[in-house]
Amino acid sequence: SETLTIIGAGLAGCEAAWQAANRGVAVTLHEMKPARMSPAHHSPDLAELVCSNSLRGASLENAVGLLKEELRRLGSLFMAAADATQVPAGGALAVDRDQFAAFITERIANHPNITLVRNEATGIPKEGVVIIASGPLTSDSLAESLRAVTGDSLYFYDAIAPIVETPSLDMSRLFKASRYGKGDGDDYLNIPLDQELYTAFVAALIAGEKVPYRDFEKGVHFEGCMPIEELAARGIDTLRFGPMKPVGLVNPATGKEPHAVIQLRMENREASMYNLVGFQTKLTWPEQRRIFRMLPGLENAEFARLGSMHRNTFINSPQLLTPSQQLKADARIIFAGQITGVEGYVESAGSGFMAGLHAAMLISGRPVTLPPQTTALGALVHHITNADVRHFQPMNVNYGLFPALPGKIKKKDRRGLLAERALADLEPWQHQLA
Ligand code: FAD
Repeated sequence: SETLTIIGAGLAGCEAAWQAANRGVAVTLHEMKPARMSPAHHSPDLAELVCSNSLRGASLENAVGLLKEELRRLGSLFMAAADATQVPAGGALAVDRDQFAAFITERIANHPNITLVRNEATGIPKEGVVIIASGPLTSDSLAESLRAVTGDSLYFYDAIAPIVETPSLDMSRLFKASRYGKGDGDDYLNIPLDQELYTAFVAALIAGEKVPYRDFEKGVHFEGCMPIEELAARGIDTLRFGPMKPVGLVNPATGKEPHAVIQLRMENREASMYNLVGFQTKLTWPEQRRIFRMLPGLENAEFARLGSMHRNTFINSPQLLTPSQQLKADARIIFAGQITGVEGYVESAGSGFMAGLHAAMLISGRPVTLPPQTTALGALVHHITNADVRHFQPMNVNYGLFPALPGKIKKKDRRGLLAERALADLEPWQHQLA
């Protein structure tokens, strides 16, 4: 029968291999380590956690906690390893990274349906079903080959602006307008700043604590997407003539253009989240919360995600992929993990789970089945494959991605109810996979 080739035995690739192999598919899994190591990988083992040993929050109050619980119920290898190797970490699920990687390596190496090949894949196999799970630091030669199927929609750095949850905004302090009234006038929310507040805000950006660049990220020119604090440091008016320019944005409360403006752009079709346009940043997370809450209307902002900038190989998934992560132009090629624009260890494993499942379905001629959008897995893959193509940037799982609950819900009950609904909806879907 048809075989499955997987490129990259990281978090996504191992999960995909496990899911497909357990469904009877013969898998060939290519991993370039240890002969070739990315600048962040150091261990010869598979599924290496390259930075923190934390898989983030364990509680269902946290969307990543829910995603872990879903993966646990779905029989994920990633979660089996995590549960077997966890170390005490308060409210988070953290693991012993060496034991974690050893656990996964041993399972993969000994699976009768998986052949592990330690070599670098330099191109996309011409035949058979393929999963590309080569991660944020995909090797150069493979990235070069990927261009043939992605064109310009393959990126090497991300530039993530903070995203706020709409219900946490004080709308009375914002005004709706797009520049010169173009497009649908309601496209953007605008935060008007007077000179005093603008000056204080610029000073805070410059003084704020930043995350240092890693060695392999230094000397990079982020053309057209500089970190906001670097623009701020160039001169007091740089931001006012750049991403914070007020031109064409008249505040209905004053009838005038403000001294400076921050634009918030809808992050999803439901408008449950907005991102701060042009605010990609290397400020630390606590500093972002403190500084961005200085802004009118954002005093109580809840952040669905905070800003960041990394070296990160990823594709424009909503443009290139179907909802089942298959290349629109060649359905036998499936993408998985961070290269699809999911962000994070757990998210990468989740994306790998779906890819392995879809590959097995494709090979056995069964129809694609997508997880309900009310689940963390479903909400995440739906976002990745349906987000706005023009502004696509990596995303981690968060409750802002979920369809709203019907009726009026107390804020403190919302996350619990979303989690409850997710787990209830997961069950019949899981049943249908068997
Ligand atoms: P990876 O786990 O990187 O797996 C890809 C695999 O493919 C690697 O083993 C690589 O060697 C192999 N490979 C690449 N090219 C080829 C090729 N041509 N042929 C064969 N094999 C190949 N997320 C968090 O949640 N917490 C963190 O603390 C965190 N820190 C990060 C730090 C850095 C420096 C980076 C780059 C990312 C970090 N991430 C973090 C983001 C992300 O969650 C991880 O990168 C995650 O490992 C991605 O999973 P993946 O399976 O997509 O890629």
